[in-house]
Amino acid sequence: MSDRLPGFSTLAVHAGAQPDPTTGARATPIYQTTSFVFNDADHAASLFGLQAFGNIYTRIGNPTNAVLEERVTALEGGTAALAVASGHAAQVVVLQQLLQPGDEFIAARKLYGGSINQFSHAFKSFGWNVVWADSDDIASFERAVTPRTKAIFIESIANPGGSITDIEAISTVARKAGVPLIVDNTLASPYLIRPIDHGADIVVHSLTKFLGGHGNSLGGIIVDAGTFDWSTGGKYPMLSEPRPEYHGIRLQETFGNFAFAIACRVLGLRDLGPALSPFNAFMILTGIETLPLRMQKHCDNAKAVAEFLAGHPAVASVSYAGLASDKYNQLARKYAPKGAGAVFTFSLKGGYDAGVSLVSKLQLFSHLANVGDTRSLVIHPASTTHSQLDDAAKVKSGAGPDVVRLSIGIEDKEDLIADLEQALAG
Ligand SMILES: *Cc1c(COP(=O)(O)O)cnc(C)c1O
Repeated sequence: MSDRLPGFSTLAVHAGAQPDPTTGARATPIYQTTSFVFNDADHAASLFGLQAFGNIYTRIGNPTNAVLEERVTALEGGTAALAVASGHAAQVVVLQQLLQPGDEFIAARKLYGGSINQFSHAFKSFGWNVVWADSDDIASFERAVTPRTKAIFIESIANPGGSITDIEAISTVARKAGVPLIVDNTLASPYLIRPIDHGADIVVHSLTKFLGGHGNSLGGIIVDAGTFDWSTGGKYPMLSEPRPEYHGIRLQETFGNFAFAIACRVLGLRDLGPALSPFNAFMILTGIETLPLRMQKHCDNAKAVAEFLAGHPAVASVSYAGLASDKYNQLARKYAPKGAGAVFTFSLKGGYDAGVSLVSKLQLFSHLANVGDTRSLVIHPASTTHSQLDDAAKVKSGAGPDVVRLSIGIEDKEDLIADLEQALAG
């Protein structure tokens, strides 16, 4: 072997995996087992006391899931990762390590609709208070910082309009405030953007979307960048204080630059329980092998479709950062030079009714609530994913009544354009 560092496509196929040592199986086996036999009583005690690494029970860790964790760690350039049952589970587990009841976190208002719900309602019942900021106005993040702020949460490419977030500018605010920056990198995938290279301390994903990529398996992952010092000012007691569950060890002191990933596993996943099925880990790993090929095709198709829509007389506007005329094109060139993703919105001159009619006439596009599938998808956010918001909040989050969201798949672009053309012809 040469000592060159493997490139992204090589890592997407190989990172974390090797032929199975007992059977020689080349694909990563599905270790469909709940539990693992201990060598002896001492071995069992050392695993339970976090004195040794090893498998105990699939709620805490599993060898198939471990390959997925290593692979995404390599692709994102982090120190360690933890796979969980869904993107939403990843968000709960991350914030549980950071916030005590009464604490706050700042979140960009342009977010996946489910995250807006989770932050506004479910998290409130835990005593975690979200404070909204506007990613187009970096000063709004600065103004939102208080002594109770424990984290900042943004999306790299934001739902639903595909806008590009200035990660470096917001990371500067986080650094000044002494809190970690969490980046949801679901819509970009590490193929397009690696948030850790731009100052993110924690990356989360819904693996359900582009990483798995085939619309068949839910999953989520948390990647620790290893960049944040959790001992400062006693702000993060889960990481800096002695843990009664583990004979009084301090996670930061013991695990250093991957302490956050460990905390998510041994305090979050162990006690909250949203474990990823090894079968889903296998499906997602298989998906990741073709991530670079798929993502490039997704982006190239999306650009062609966005250009077609921008020239169509029934279309009022197209919000796709890959278009030279788009407000976010400068940021797209800086953060996502290979392509601006495949999820974007456009608005119709005919308003709400035209949106509903378009969705019903499309044949190749599936009308459903997902993104990042091989298949092209369409949804009308105002009546579905963002329906819980009032009208002003809908417009602010990019989901006004006339807006249609597309997730462009990897079909032939000519077929996608033909389908849109017939549906727009009315
Ligand atoms: C889908 C999605 C989530 C939630 O992920 P699940 O796997 O559905 O729980 C979070 N963030 C973004 C950007 C998403 O697209």
